[in-house]
Amino acid sequence: MSHHHSHRHVAPGAFNSVLLSNPQGQDFDLIIVGGGLTGSALAVALADTALRIALVDARAPARPKDWPAQWDNRVYAISPGSADLLSAIGCWAHLTPDRLQRVERMVVRGDAGGEIDFSAFDTGTEELAWIVESSEMACELWTTVSRQRNVTSYCPAIPAALQVTDEGAMLTLEDGAVLRGKLVIGADGRDSWVRQQTGLSSTHDPYNELGVVANFRTELPHFGTAYQWFREDGVLAYLPLAGGDGADHGHMLSMVWSAPEDFARTLLADSAEALAERVANAGANQLGRLQLLAPAAGFPLKLVRVPQVVAPRVALIGDAAHGIHPLTGHGVNLGFQDVRVLADLIRTARPVDDLGDLRLLSRYQRARREEVVMLQSVTDAMRKLFASKAPGLAPLRNLGLSLTNRLGPLKTLLIRYALER
Ligand SMILES: Cc1cc2nc3c(=O)[nH]c(=O)nc-3n(C[C@H](O)[C@H](O)[C@H](O)COP(=O)(O)OP(=O)(O)OC[C@H]3O[C@@H](n4cnc5c(N)ncnc54)[C@H](O)[C@@H]3O)c2cc1C
Repeated sequence: MSHHHSHRHVAPGAFNSVLLSNPQGQDFDLIIVGGGLTGSALAVALADTALRIALVDARAPARPKDWPAQWDNRVYAISPGSADLLSAIGCWAHLTPDRLQRVERMVVRGDAGGEIDFSAFDTGTEELAWIVESSEMACELWTTVSRQRNVTSYCPAIPAALQVTDEGAMLTLEDGAVLRGKLVIGADGRDSWVRQQTGLSSTHDPYNELGVVANFRTELPHFGTAYQWFREDGVLAYLPLAGGDGADHGHMLSMVWSAPEDFARTLLADSAEALAERVANAGANQLGRLQLLAPAAGFPLKLVRVPQVVAPRVALIGDAAHGIHPLTGHGVNLGFQDVRVLADLIRTARPVDDLGDLRLLSRYQRARREEVVMLQSVTDAMRKLFASKAPGLAPLRNLGLSLTNRLGPLKTLLIRYALER
């Protein structure tokens, strides 16, 4: 019927020949806009189906310039649930083993002595999470997609218009290429173009904070422990990084400091030495002296709520469907669970079902809503509690942390929750 199988990795400019031979445009079942972690994972999750998939992205992911010596300063805490999904779709096994770090213990401290401490041992599991570089996963997923027979990649490409009718959806790219499909997936991040085009509403609450990220060499080994401090000047996390050879192994950390904007700018303007010292002090010198490995970067943080994530022929996944504060480190995990649920629904649809049917898509929305709303509220409440300068709150919230640490069942529940996602 069409030529899409022979155009797996369409180079810019190659579209013209496709268009000339098929003035009606290319036919697909699924058009995924956004090939970030969630968009590409969805494409990979549907590899063994007969579905014809288009994947559109403005840019391909890239590893850091001096990889493997250099480490990405964007790293994620991947929950066991997300690792399971990545295993099930065949990607986990291809990640470079010495870039994967098990988190075996987590220590969370308040600003006045409160503490939660839990370990994988407590829960009878091998790890609480994995620390993985964003680009390590993105590049692996992208490589898999490029080998996939049922995917046509349009990259670099930017969508210009989206039209939805009873019969199908039509996506026009800026270079004039026309893609037709039954269902359009918005996996295009928190400022989703697909969401805007579809008229799905969203509320945006900026936290007036930047997530400042940077990697450091540490004097003392981290032993697979992740630390988090709730401080007056934001929430600081030390995530253990895999890196280092021999005796140096276990001597790298990735920092995420969600800090009020002004202070975040100070951090970003600091010299390497000043930043290392500040981060070491803020973390109670837990891992000894620090040495900055590459310049820090800052990302604005906001809470994005999207009440409806589906419309006829459109479904949103990942950050397009929910933006969350990084303090519980769940952003990408929520997105991977979107992928799991939506891929299952699509795979089990009968051939007669129209994938763009709102009734089918509503099942995806219902299956995901509770978890997303719950996690957004809990994260937001924690953030506000610790960001508040109201007198009397500090002892209260620290008491909360300490009680949570001592109260077995609640703690286990929290851990179980963290593990199952
Ligand atoms: C500082 C910080 C720390 C974080 N830490 C964690 C953590 O520890 N754990 C965690 O789980 N999550 C974390 N997150 C959240 C995580 O980054 C996101 O949840 C995740 O990247 C979302 O993936 P996505 O595929 O939905 O969207 P994105 O990664 O945003 O991907 C969107 C893709 O769409 C493409 N695109 C967008 N618009 C267009 C367009 N108009 N045309 C063509 N292509 C387009 C982009 O090029 C991109 O490839 C953190 C976020 C921040 C800011």
